[in-house]
Amino acid sequence: MQDRRIKNILTAEPLKQKIEVRGWLRTRRDARDFSFLEINDGSCLDNLQVIASSDLENFKDIVLKLHTGCSVLVAGVLRKSPAKGQTVELHADRIEVYGWADPESYPLQKKRHSFEFLRNIAHLRPRTNSLGAIARIRSSLSYAVHQFFRDHGFIHVHTPIITTIDCEGAGEMFRVSAPSHFLKDNSEEPRDSEFFGKPANLTVSGQLQAEVYAMALGNVYTFGPTFRAENSNTSRHLSEFWMVEPEMAFCDLSENMALAESFLQYLVRHVLEKDSLDMSLFAKFIDKKLFAKLDKVIENPFVRITYTEAVAILQKADKNFEFPVRWGTDLQAEHERYLCEIVFNQPVFITDYPKDIKPFYMRVNADGKTVAAMDLLLPGLGEIIGGSQREERYDVLVARMQELRLNLEEYRWYLDLRAFGTAPHSGFGLGFERFLQFVTAMNNIREVIPFPRTPGSALY
Ligand code: ATP
Ligand code: MN
Repeated sequence: MQDRRIKNILTAEPLKQKIEVRGWLRTRRDARDFSFLEINDGSCLDNLQVIASSDLENFKDIVLKLHTGCSVLVAGVLRKSPAKGQTVELHADRIEVYGWADPESYPLQKKRHSFEFLRNIAHLRPRTNSLGAIARIRSSLSYAVHQFFRDHGFIHVHTPIITTIDCEGAGEMFRVSAPSHFLKDNSEEPRDSEFFGKPANLTVSGQLQAEVYAMALGNVYTFGPTFRAENSNTSRHLSEFWMVEPEMAFCDLSENMALAESFLQYLVRHVLEKDSLDMSLFAKFIDKKLFAKLDKVIENPFVRITYTEAVAILQKADKNFEFPVRWGTDLQAEHERYLCEIVFNQPVFITDYPKDIKPFYMRVNADGKTVAAMDLLLPGLGEIIGGSQREERYDVLVARMQELRLNLEEYRWYLDLRAFGTAPHSGFGLGFERFLQFVTAMNNIREVIPFPRTPGSALY
């Protein structure tokens, strides 16, 4: 007696063997002398078809009462399927129920539900085809991220989730505090009112800590959750999301972009090769042109233009933007989409932004007005990556921080990296959920993370 997951059974299982399968019933259809059961165990998109003959001893009492959502065990013999739609079918000689699902109250019925509806039952939505496929693709791509960096000699660094860096311009932070009984003092000694001795926050980026390790180990990356308390209720923003952040010593902006490009193409190639069954669902139901779009990304080099060139293109554009384009202001989503979708119809790197709209750590260019920044924009999505060459010159960094009235003592450790053995270095951050949106063509970012956290909503 062998025990197998449906993914293996459908692809590699020899016929005529006796096997056992456990999973959840998707549908039951009754014919004259038997019922067809579709079983899914989460191992792949496809269901296993089970033939349950009316000869089964519990046919009337159990089999005919099975409904969508029940969990079952089926033992039987695998045979070649005579019908279209599947290659094998399981002829049951024993069916047991682990758990019933009352058809009156089970919220997932056979029909297609809207993603908004599914969001409110996030504890059951991974049982649907689409959310199950997203979960498998997410897992597969997470593995691919580590594989890519490992293959390129990068060291994985776990940067902290709780941080006391007071500000770095990436976004609003969530405060971390301890229950008040921790902080009330029973002893004579005065104690700090902060658990960590000073205000602490959830991280908005692991970059500054990754820089510490890049300045010792060369090429490093961090891949973990990040948090932003921004009140931006858009289809592209979460309050908790995952970011991939490589940081490379002895690396300038153009090498940084070359890495970002080959990383992104690697991930797209990976998902097309390794997750083709799950991906076919999105190409069929969400975006018919999905595979063509992804093929284009791996076949063509990305466009590289400067911010100044982008502004010139936008100012000449035959289009009325809601926000006017002026050198010195940040590009809005409508501008990014125009460049990426109308002008180039390809991924576009925009480089060398005005220093006043970018954080203090980006390297100041020779013109004194712009910094060695790069954003990567994707058609249909917008910004996927933000990165830069970091300011490695001690004096220039100090001057920049003073301009912005940052507390130099708070950043003594960061300045030390420039005081002792400084080196040119660069890195970027890729929003993992934004990338998942790109490869699945899902419209809303809340669908590509298991339990989305957004302003006003944190279920479970
Ligand atoms: P945006 O302008 O889109 O809000 P950002 O400039 O704040 O992005 P960075 O601070 O450069 O973004 O972060 C790096 C990457 O992290 C972004 O390119 C994006 O892919 C992702 N990202 C940023 N904020 C969020 C968010 N709130 N939810 C999901 N992903 C995000
Ligand atoms: Mn943002």
